[in-house]
Amino acid sequence: MANDKLKFNSRTIHGGQQPDKAYGSVMPPVYLTSTYAQTKPGAHLGYEYSRSHNPTRTALENSLASIESGKHALAFASGMAAIDAVIKLLQPGDEVISTNDLYGGTYRIFTKIFANYGIKFHFVPMGELDQVEKHINKNTKLLWVETPTNPLMQIVDIKAMKAIAKANGLLLAVDNTFASPYLQRPLELGADIVMHSATKYLGGHSDVVLGALVLKDDELTERLAFIQNASGAVPGPLDAFLVLRGIKTLHVRMQRHCENGRAVAEFLAANPAIEKVYWPGFEHHPNHEVAKAQMDDFGGMISFIHKDSTLEKAVAIVSALKVFTLAESLGGVESLAGHPASMTHASIPKEAREKTGITDGLIRLSIGIEDSEDLLADLAQAIN
Ligand SMILES: *Cc1c(COP(=O)(O)O)cnc(C)c1O
Repeated sequence: MANDKLKFNSRTIHGGQQPDKAYGSVMPPVYLTSTYAQTKPGAHLGYEYSRSHNPTRTALENSLASIESGKHALAFASGMAAIDAVIKLLQPGDEVISTNDLYGGTYRIFTKIFANYGIKFHFVPMGELDQVEKHINKNTKLLWVETPTNPLMQIVDIKAMKAIAKANGLLLAVDNTFASPYLQRPLELGADIVMHSATKYLGGHSDVVLGALVLKDDELTERLAFIQNASGAVPGPLDAFLVLRGIKTLHVRMQRHCENGRAVAEFLAANPAIEKVYWPGFEHHPNHEVAKAQMDDFGGMISFIHKDSTLEKAVAIVSALKVFTLAESLGGVESLAGHPASMTHASIPKEAREKTGITDGLIRLSIGIEDSEDLLADLAQAIN
């Protein structure tokens, strides 16, 4: 695709796209159809049934492949459906090594669904490479990486994970939801599979749930496309259209998310009432150098703890916010605040949660693209 030679910001608009063949419409029509006419059995225009393929979904998949520097993309009904498809590559007895500070739903599907099918999961702090290597044995098949991690904003060195994966013949999958391809393109760093909850930054407007996998390898794509069609967790064409529309403004939104993120992180760090701020843009962040090397900026996700680190104080702060909305999810144009221990990460047992640092006092912010002065004023009044 010629458009793939364009720079990133142009690819968000043109990557993998061409005017619709029927009438030249600039955006692809929302092909609300389940089936496609054939002139004789097997003679069709490339589409047979919309679980297998749909032209609006194809347009989205081509865009995703382009902006993630991949060759192929597969869209799913949700981020979880995309993760589900990746784990279905495995067999009973296989083992997975995963980041320990992990999206709650990912932890849940690993431990409550796939563990029942004889797949074993190890959750390790991936900042410590020897911790990863220690868990590798002949059954290990997959490294599952999330970076920045959720909600503690740790950074996993994707290149280092690739070296370990390569040396041991493992697949490397990276959940790139938090960074978005604007900040980080794991396929360029050697990952085999990039996974997205497009519900977040890619869609960007909190109006759709959708997931995706992006790949370079033809054979691996074929296996995952088989699972996508066989299991059937595909998005409808309207949802595909909404995400495609979101992607077209990804780079301008991300630029503002990053600017506002920096303003909020620095404001919180300077506030004497705040104990700790988690944001990879700080020079004192333990993985700041890795973040600088593999990300183009530091994003708009921030977590923090008040000096009074009780559950009551955290609940009081998130309840007092007026510009920020108290809600799950992230990556939309509006700023959201969340309380991981009782919301996004409630599916992780308290003991496991506290062990990784997700304490009752932790508050997570998804910084939107409002005027930063309004965000700072809102935080100031809620903290006091
Ligand atoms: C939201 C999210 C998911 C799950 O995606 P859904 O679209 O909600 O199914 C997976 N990983 C991360 C990091 C997420 O934030």
